[in-house]
Amino acid sequence: MSRIAYVNGRYAPHRDAAVHIEDRGYQFADAVYEVIAIQNGRFVDEEPHLDRLDRSLRELRMAAPVARPALKHILRETVRRNRVRDGIVYMQISRGVARRDHAFPAHRESSLVVTARSTTPKSAARAGGVAVVTTEDIRWKRCDLKTVGLLPNVLAKQMAAEAGAYEAWMIGADGAITECTSANAWIVTDTREAVTRPPTHAILNGITRRTVRAIAEEAGYSVVERSFTLDEALAAAEAFLTSTTSHVMPVVRIDGAPIGDGRPGPLTCALQAQYEAYAGAAEAGTTAAGGA
Ligand code: PMP
Repeated sequence: MSRIAYVNGRYAPHRDAAVHIEDRGYQFADAVYEVIAIQNGRFVDEEPHLDRLDRSLRELRMAAPVARPALKHILRETVRRNRVRDGIVYMQISRGVARRDHAFPAHRESSLVVTARSTTPKSAARAGGVAVVTTEDIRWKRCDLKTVGLLPNVLAKQMAAEAGAYEAWMIGADGAITECTSANAWIVTDTREAVTRPPTHAILNGITRRTVRAIAEEAGYSVVERSFTLDEALAAAEAFLTSTTSHVMPVVRIDGAPIGDGRPGPLTCALQAQYEAYAGAAEAGTTAAGGA
C-alpha cells in the first residue's frame, strides 16, 4: 500500500507529494511541527499537542493554516488513508512560499504537510533499557519552540548512534543536563524523587513529560522540577527518558557507566506500566495532564 501525505489541501502518494523549492521551511527552517501517537486507533494527548503547536505558531508569529477542527479532520483523514492503528501522525507548518528573503513575507499563507505511519512501541522492544551518551548542548535559546531547526539534535543523535547508544543527553551552558535530542531526561534519587528539568526556554516541554508527571503525582510519587548535573545522574538510583515515541524508556547506562544496578529501576518500571495503560486507553481529546 502506498503511503499518502497531505500537502496544502491535497492528499497525494508520497512519491508525488512535494513542497515548493522556496518554501521557508526548506530554506530557513522557518517551520514548526508536532508528532502525536496513535494507539488502538486513538490519538494520545491530542489537545495538549495541538495547544503546544498553537503556542509555537504564536511565539513565532506564524499563521495557523487551518482552524483546529479542520486540522483535526485532516489528521484523522491522513491516519485513515494510511490505515494507521498504532503509529504516529506528523504535522509541519511553515511560513509558506516566498522569494528568498530573511524577513517575513507580506502574505500570511502558511504551508501544511501531514504524514502518518505505523510504528511499534520502542519501549516494548527494549525491555532492558537503553544506553545514552552525553554531549554539549549547542542549540539556540528557544528550545521550548518545536521548530524543524533540528541540526544540533541531528548531530548529537548521530554521535549517539555511532557510539552504539539510543540517545544523547545534552549538557547546557549551566553545566546541567538539558534534555535528549528528541526526549526529556529524568533521574530518580536515592530518596525516590523523580527529577526533571523545569520547562524554561532551555527545553521542549514534552507532552509525555507532563503526562508522566501527572500520573506520578496521582500515584503519590514525588516529582521535583529542578536542574541536575551529569555527576548527579551518574550517582542516581534510576534514570529514564520520556517522549511521544519512546514513552517511558529506562536509561541503564550513561557514557558507559551503569546507573543503579544497570537494570531498569522500580519507579521507572512502575511509571512505564502506568503510562502504557494510560496511552493504550487514551480517548481522543482526553489527557491526564488536563491540558496543563
Ligand atoms: N525534547 C525534544 C527536543 C523533543 O524533540 C521531544 C520530542 N518531541 C521531546 C523533548 C519530548 O516531547 P513529547 O513528549 O511531547 O514527545
